[in-house]
Amino acid sequence: GPAVGVVAFQGAWREHRNTLESLGASVRLLRRPEDLEGVSGVVLPGGESTVIGRFLEQSGLAPALRASLEERTALLATCAGAILACREVEGSPPQGRLGLVPARAVRNAYGGQRESFEADLPWEGGDSLRGIFIRAPRFEDLGEGTRVLARHRGEPVAFLWNRCLLCAFHPELGEDLRVHRRFLDLCPS
Ligand code: GLN
Repeated sequence: GPAVGVVAFQGAWREHRNTLESLGASVRLLRRPEDLEGVSGVVLPGGESTVIGRFLEQSGLAPALRASLEERTALLATCAGAILACREVEGSPPQGRLGLVPARAVRNAYGGQRESFEADLPWEGGDSLRGIFIRAPRFEDLGEGTRVLARHRGEPVAFLWNRCLLCAFHPELGEDLRVHRRFLDLCPS
């Protein structure tokens, strides 16, 4: 399978690694700009966006990642990762934001930890998948070239833009492999 990198500072990077390995990808952990060499896809996991953003900045990975995403690399960004990928974040913008994807993220828009929930989401117009939402962001003002893959109560919770797949929920915590499979299909060979 393709060589994919998982940003491994904080958050659910282990779960992403395990899911991707179960699909036959060869997984590299990303902590420094050099780690990006030869990688065709990158996962930016959920966790705490301010913490991950600070690490991205301090490590020098933020500009390196931005450059490689603009060039050819695919991206799967979940929850906090998706917040960091968006061009705009409501409120104070976290440090280390990649700011590539034309959309605005509203942090914690569905409430705090205790308002975590699961929901059945029709995936790309087909069978539902179970979405796990933990302090999830809302996506607003999706820009040109975006395509919604899943909605919850009419609001987009997963969408595609170029080779970037952004997801408000946590596919790495569920059993359904379709989100990761979709990401691997975006990785150039
Ligand atoms: N609300 C968190 C943040 O803003 C994201 C939560 C998550 O990734 N599960 O970083």
